[in-house]
Amino acid sequence: MAARETLNIDWSCLKRQTQCPICSGQRNTILSDSVLTIHEGSDLKVELRECQNCQHWWHNPMPVQQYLSSLYTGHSKFVLGVEVIEMIKKVGKIDLSQYQTNASGLPPMDDPRPCRELDSGKEFNYLEIGCGDGKLFSRFRERAKVCYGVEPGNWFDEPTIVTDITKLPSGLKFDVIVLHDILEHLEDPLGMMQRCKNLSNQGARIYCSFPNKDSWVAKVRKEKWDMVRPFGHLHYFSKKSSAILFDTSKWKITERYTHPGPKIDWRNILKVKRFFEDIVCAHHQWYWIGIFECE
Ligand SMILES: [Zn+2]
Repeated sequence: MAARETLNIDWSCLKRQTQCPICSGQRNTILSDSVLTIHEGSDLKVELRECQNCQHWWHNPMPVQQYLSSLYTGHSKFVLGVEVIEMIKKVGKIDLSQYQTNASGLPPMDDPRPCRELDSGKEFNYLEIGCGDGKLFSRFRERAKVCYGVEPGNWFDEPTIVTDITKLPSGLKFDVIVLHDILEHLEDPLGMMQRCKNLSNQGARIYCSFPNKDSWVAKVRKEKWDMVRPFGHLHYFSKKSSAILFDTSKWKITERYTHPGPKIDWRNILKVKRFFEDIVCAHHQWYWIGIFECE
């Protein structure tokens, strides 16, 4: 039987990534050399590597950023799940006015901690990299003095949501920056953290979430962990690689945790499945918060 096609991948836009993209360490282990991408029609396989210095995981080869951005803009199956693509096809552009707060309450959040900023009573400029479905963005738009978003998927019809960080108006600086589920999608997460710092006012806070490869479920399942999704995801962070990410880009770490509800509810111990989910699955995501202080 003929092998399935390696559909439409531009090989010239894939680069070999054999040193750690976070700490630049040269020594690493190939955990698997045959991870299929999320494109079900493609037989392309990539490696999952682990850095021996900082324990970061990444994929080799890896698409270069310009190509990655074009895959997101083109809603490619190499980077977006089929359900997301179907949803976009159905709704066309996402209308933020649907989230306007009303009597039925506020839209739910994966991690509500950025919303503490809404209660600060201070004026602030807000930037969200990767607006996703736009729920968090719509809440901040009501309150922030200046509110900008970056969403390469281009599914918003909003003048203040641009498709690339380079398209933000020049000279703007921000006080609150959110990167929820973004860094794992990028060729160079460290470069993005540095860019965000350059866009920040003194005292700005950054809220990041990304996959936690130190979690038990990741350690046990390795390349079979459901967060391992090339080329949708390219990076999986250890505690050490996350710390290097923040330190190198000059963000001072103020909080880190692995779940929005960090307390395990022991009353669920008798509900075996629920308890297991609380312990194992819920902690597969890191949440890190940092502050920018000029030296
Ligand atoms: Zn490393």
